[in-house]
Amino acid sequence: MRALKLTAWKSEPELVDVPEPEPGPGHVVVRIGGAGACHSDLHLMHDFEPGALPWGPPFTLGHENAGWVHALGSGVRGLEVGQPVAVYGPWGCGHCERCAVGMETYCEKPAEAPVPVGGGGLGLDGGMADYLLVPAQRLLLPLPDGLDPVVAAPLTDAGLTPYHAIRRSWPKLTPTATAVVIGVGGLGHMAVQILKATTSARVVAVDTREEALKLAETLGADLTLLSGPDTAAEIRKYTPDGRGADAVFDFVGAQPTLDIAGAAARMMGDVTIVGIGGGGLPVSFSSPAYEVSVQSTYWGSRPELAEVLDLAARGMLVPEITTFPLEDAVAAYRRLAAGELTGRAVIVPSADQR
Ligand code: NAD
Ligand code: ZN
Ligand code: ZN
Repeated sequence: MRALKLTAWKSEPELVDVPEPEPGPGHVVVRIGGAGACHSDLHLMHDFEPGALPWGPPFTLGHENAGWVHALGSGVRGLEVGQPVAVYGPWGCGHCERCAVGMETYCEKPAEAPVPVGGGGLGLDGGMADYLLVPAQRLLLPLPDGLDPVVAAPLTDAGLTPYHAIRRSWPKLTPTATAVVIGVGGLGHMAVQILKATTSARVVAVDTREEALKLAETLGADLTLLSGPDTAAEIRKYTPDGRGADAVFDFVGAQPTLDIAGAAARMMGDVTIVGIGGGGLPVSFSSPAYEVSVQSTYWGSRPELAEVLDLAARGMLVPEITTFPLEDAVAAYRRLAAGELTGRAVIVPSADQR
């Protein structure tokens, strides 16, 4: 079968021929319907030095996957060949306190996981291939009726990650509140919809690209702002008495955006850092504003993925997708890096699904 392998740090992946995976006991092989191209893959290609992570190349990219059950290992019950499934991407040990509640992102026995702090496409072979080996049945969620694997794929990360981040701030997102989404790309365009579908807050979207802001407006953003030195002041001006935003979700995480996030947050508000842009937000007694909570979040939990899939199956969450064949995956990543895509690029290996 074909697979898009990252063979070395600081390089682009290559499409190669590899043997089709065989399921061992408890394993499931999934035929890939869609594999999303995440900006984190660009960080994997360009930013990491050998030894920076507990794992490294070679491995197949693609940590945002959905498809159909293709082959079952011995002992797997309750799944049928041909059944559509989404893959829960963070693969932990499966039995520590965090994994037991489906929060495998924060597995506390990483040495007992299939790969420490990773998963398919993150140290192990991922879904930018015809087939994906999933090492445990618990990592698969049957798709609700009407949800296509090509659409479900981006929900498993671009949908799940902002959902987890936003959910933490739900108590603060009252009808009089303002939420800010910085970076309306793959994750951010889902964030705007999740805020609209699950809260009554006003939504401000911030990006450097007009195209991204246009999409945010279509998806229901109440105000869109070009990102720049005045953005925090503009956000404050939009809120009553200039009090600032109740929750800021930064899907870029670079210094200029974290500066905006810190300066725009209302007293007692939330700043959540999701983007891996290398910036920092200093926290002291008086800055950001009093009682602002600053947090980072990593991906999301398995129960939250079920909630995201449900929202999407009911039409309340619709990823904006551009599909590419596997042969064009490198071109898709180049377009993502150049800021030429809106929404999410999804690699679709099978010609009859595109
Ligand atoms: P993307 O490239 O699809 O979107 C990024 C968006 O940010 C683009 O629309 C871009 O125009 C915009 N942007 C860039 N600089 C900006 C600035 N200064 N101000 C405002 N907007 C700006 O990327 P993505 O796949 O949505 O990922 C976003 C970030 O989140 C990446 O750093 C990625 O690695 C990270 N990520 C984190 C997690 C997690 O669990 N924490 C999960 C997935 C992705
Ligand atoms: Zn990702
Ligand atoms: Zn664990």
